[in-house]
Amino acid sequence: MSKKSTRTKKPQSRIPNPQSRGAKPQSPTPKPRSQRSKLPKYVYFFGDGKADGDRTMRDQLGGKGAGLAEMTNAGLPVPPGFTMSTAVCNIYYERKGKLPASLDDEITANLRKLEKSAEARLGDPTNPLLVSVRSGAKFSMPGMMDTILNLGLNDRTVQALKRRTSNGRFAFDSCRRFVQMFGNVVLDIPKEAFEHEFERVKNKRSAKSDTDLDEDGLRDVVRRYKALVQERTGRPFPQDPMTQLSMARDAVFRSWNNPRAREYRRIYDIPDHIGTAVNVQMMVFGNTGSRSATGVGFTRNPATGANEFYGEFLVNAQGEDVVAGIRTPQPIRELKAVMPKAYRQLRAITTRLERHYKDVQDFEFTIEDDRLFMLQTRSGKRTGYAAVVIATDLVAEKLVTPKEALLLVDPEALTQLLAPGFDPAEWRKVPVLAKGLPASPGAACGQVVFTADDAVQWTNQGKPVILVRKETVPDDIHGMHVAQGILTATGGMTSHAAVVGRQMGKPSIVGAGSLQVDEKSRTLSVDGRVIKEGDYLSFDGLSGEVKLARVASKPSEILQVVNGELAPKRSDIYQRVERLLKWADKHRRLGIRANADLPDQAELAYKFGARGIGLCRTEHMFFGADRLPIVQRMILADNAADRRKAVTELLPMQRSDFYGVFKAMHGSPVTIRTIDPPLHEFLPKREELMVEIAKLEVTNGDQNLLDQKRKLLNRVEQLHEFNPMLGHRGVRLGITFPEITEMQTRAIIEAACQVAKEGQKVVPEIMIPLVGHVKEFRDQKEIVDRVAADTMKAQGVRVPYLVGTMIEVPRGALAAGDIAREAEFFSFGTNDLTQMTFGFSRDDIGKFLRAYQEKKILERDPFASLDTEGVGDLVRIAVERGRRTRPDLKLGVCGEHSGDPASIHFFDKVGLDYVSASPYRVPVARLAAAQAALSVRVGD
Ligand code: ADP
Ligand code: MG
Ligand code: MG
Repeated sequence: MSKKSTRTKKPQSRIPNPQSRGAKPQSPTPKPRSQRSKLPKYVYFFGDGKADGDRTMRDQLGGKGAGLAEMTNAGLPVPPGFTMSTAVCNIYYERKGKLPASLDDEITANLRKLEKSAEARLGDPTNPLLVSVRSGAKFSMPGMMDTILNLGLNDRTVQALKRRTSNGRFAFDSCRRFVQMFGNVVLDIPKEAFEHEFERVKNKRSAKSDTDLDEDGLRDVVRRYKALVQERTGRPFPQDPMTQLSMARDAVFRSWNNPRAREYRRIYDIPDHIGTAVNVQMMVFGNTGSRSATGVGFTRNPATGANEFYGEFLVNAQGEDVVAGIRTPQPIRELKAVMPKAYRQLRAITTRLERHYKDVQDFEFTIEDDRLFMLQTRSGKRTGYAAVVIATDLVAEKLVTPKEALLLVDPEALTQLLAPGFDPAEWRKVPVLAKGLPASPGAACGQVVFTADDAVQWTNQGKPVILVRKETVPDDIHGMHVAQGILTATGGMTSHAAVVGRQMGKPSIVGAGSLQVDEKSRTLSVDGRVIKEGDYLSFDGLSGEVKLARVASKPSEILQVVNGELAPKRSDIYQRVERLLKWADKHRRLGIRANADLPDQAELAYKFGARGIGLCRTEHMFFGADRLPIVQRMILADNAADRRKAVTELLPMQRSDFYGVFKAMHGSPVTIRTIDPPLHEFLPKREELMVEIAKLEVTNGDQNLLDQKRKLLNRVEQLHEFNPMLGHRGVRLGITFPEITEMQTRAIIEAACQVAKEGQKVVPEIMIPLVGHVKEFRDQKEIVDRVAADTMKAQGVRVPYLVGTMIEVPRGALAAGDIAREAEFFSFGTNDLTQMTFGFSRDDIGKFLRAYQEKKILERDPFASLDTEGVGDLVRIAVERGRRTRPDLKLGVCGEHSGDPASIHFFDKVGLDYVSASPYRVPVARLAAAQAALSVRVGD
């Protein structure tokens, strides 16, 4: 950016303003720039009751910019400013830091407008304008990127600020903050270096807190800071405000790609390409003295969802002081006594914001000499528990409709509600070690570690950990992600640890003041008691109690209700979840089934709301201790007669399992898959057998047993495959051992007949796995139909049944038109389909997935979230071709992806009839299916 003197001469008419005031808000996705005739608009003004943007423009303005624009338009007291759009960030990266000239012009024009509104000028020697330069992406990433306050200060303007306010302490306090933030964020000098200087001055002057330093002290700090900058960068601190501004802007863009921001995006699936906006805003000052303050808050309690005003503030402070845990902030209700007028206004404004946005708001404010300013508003991050409470409360208060409420809950929140808590009896037995602020509910138990890196390392070794820190910083994100719980000694309910912990749904306690955390020696002491790394701690994130013990946890309230241990009416949260999911059921198009192999799993799934089993894996029934020997005999048989004998022994067992599953589904359809895995999975490992044989040989053991083992080893070696996943499995087993398909069909149909005789509706769907060619399917279908007819005849009942296939081999998807001539339903086995489409072994992808993600070859694990382009295309093709042959073809999906909200959206759009998720993910799937039907992705 060039100096302003040369700028003023530029013809203003060149600056495009496609969005005339009062015009309808621009659509959230603007046309690509190349399609627009005029110069692109990069900068959006807000101020004096009018903004260029509004709430719908989060893509361009980021969440913060859109919120500031919306509040400005609503006539709220927002300091004026302008937003450089996220497009600029992308240009910054594409052109390696070179920004278009038209942007400079736009910035200058908007700056002039801002100066007019503020009645002050950037760098003016008598009446200087100070601004903040704030990051802000579409999705909030708390504390991950950078913001700089008080920009525009230099040796001259600081004097002007002092003269104008007659407050030298304030002027130099603002200055030391600016030099520190600029030095850290823009010039890359570590925070600690500044803090070290600050501490030295505080010690020298026996000041306890930053507010104890007077003007002289702060001048001293500024002097030392500037010397530090000179020493570290070899240059003096930049004095020219326009230079400061462009350097700060670029640093904000760079902060988009700092390691912690990238890690954050990886964890929360935020795309890397969306970029951050930059907001330049007139400063207001919470640090002018005792009539000023800064604070943050929520319109409702974000941990419990309770409808109570919630937040914290600090008198005579600025910016991040509240969140950073430098001084302990005061609860917001105390603001009422200190600054009653500002407090009343804040309540009125935030209540209005909540009604306007129809959602809980998380806001930031500053009070300058009793005058309130709003600095940010956004949807408040909340725990899963709070999300459900708030959504149902807002409906009860008639602030939102049930349909709108469905969009207020991230489906993943529901999994948090199923997480275990402590057994109250066990918990009571242990004395309280310490108490802190209950930042995020949930029971956490694990071994103490003191750094984020250790948390990751220990977790990788399979140890549950509690991450204990004095306070967390954004760089700790990876450790927080893996820890069972987060415990800090300082900080308030809105500190970093609290905000991030809540968002992750991770039990968290903050500000446990009696903890003396010594991160260097990796110890923690409480009232003289020393706790070492590796010791077990347990804590309850709802009460804030920490205990020195390993306390067993207990199923969540919802599970207790589902299991019949607690009456529904005694659990408020259960009733709320029920209500929410009933609303979801009304709006979703997709049917919800569950993958369940045994009657008790089916029962659980039914209680969670599954209406049908989409995948019952028969082989899981083979692993029972009473069954495995028979299964092994079946495999070891070297002739069909022996095999048939073993298989016949299995029949009653399978029949009783199927009977149980049918009963548990109360008449909803049940899809049963015939045997699928390679047979060696049912036999002992080759190496183990060799060891056993060697032992028997050395000890002259039982000859009979030895013979048996040798025979077994022989068979194991015969069955050995180089590529078992592509080997003798699935339909290939049924083709080579038809007696297995026969037995399984008989067991299924006999069980169904029995249920039908008892007067219950039953709909078995027999599913042949791994079909790639219609002739494979025809071979098996012929067996199924023949045996089914015989069995029903023998039983004297007729039950309706379907025969279909899993689509999980790419050829099966491509040949779907042919296969649908024979198959009455398809169920997409997206695990195998992903494995075979990519050629990634799902058991080995862990070795390289991380590198793939780091290099941006893959954004997400394709086994967790469907690859909608490649694998999804096969699904699309199979749906199309299958339905063309057989219009009433029933279509479902039973891979792991059916519990993943993003994938569920895809399955809804592609027109499947149902998804089949694991029982615990059924509530998630119900809600996600409703959101898919409403075409809104929640959790973005
Ligand atoms: P973050 O996204 O990390 O919250 P912000 O851009 O919101 O970063 O800035 C952090 C804090 O800085 C705000 O909460 C506010 O207290 C302070 N701040 C930002 N801009 C201004 C301003 N124009 N005037 C006064 N304080 C500001
Ligand atoms: Mg903020
Ligand atoms: Mg499979």
